[in-house]
Amino acid sequence: MTTSTAPQPANMTDPALAHAWTVLEAVPDPEIPVVSIRELGILRDVRRAADGALEVVITPTYSGCPAMSQIAEDIGLALTTAQLTPYRVATVLAPAWTTDWITADAREKLRAYGIAPPTGNCGAAASSAAPQEKVLRFVPRALPAPSCPRCGSAHTERLAQFGSTACKALYRCLDCREPFDYFKPY
Ligand SMILES: [Zn+2]
Repeated sequence: MTTSTAPQPANMTDPALAHAWTVLEAVPDPEIPVVSIRELGILRDVRRAADGALEVVITPTYSGCPAMSQIAEDIGLALTTAQLTPYRVATVLAPAWTTDWITADAREKLRAYGIAPPTGNCGAAASSAAPQEKVLRFVPRALPAPSCPRCGSAHTERLAQFGSTACKALYRCLDCREPFDYFKPY
């Protein structure tokens, strides 16, 4: 007799997969170490391949971001340390990553770190569009300026299209005068 009748996801019946999820949830983003690759929506799946290896599915963020090889390396190190081998990392490009996949917790962590999280309900229009239109989403979206992550003022101006990385734009708060990175909606 069991005490739980709740259905479980198929992969949670495999202890190694559950362990791998736990290990990988702790892998930080190499560029923004206060958030994990899971929280950013980069880690998509962990599954058992037909040959028995663990298969970790990741989706790159912006194509211009050079961090993906570092992320694959970090995943490998985490799994090897946890003796979860053999494994391989599969990069999946469709559906394309979007800032909508960033969790609410991660948005708060970004703000606390001094990076304005993406504004707007930016996924609503995009997700109702035909899938083939997604490849055209490098077209900048007209969205309200982000609020200052330090003082909360909405009185901000853009200084540069690209901040510390191509993923971010550089803004300045017109009230507290502090410059800050804005994680651009995508
Ligand atoms: Zn401010």
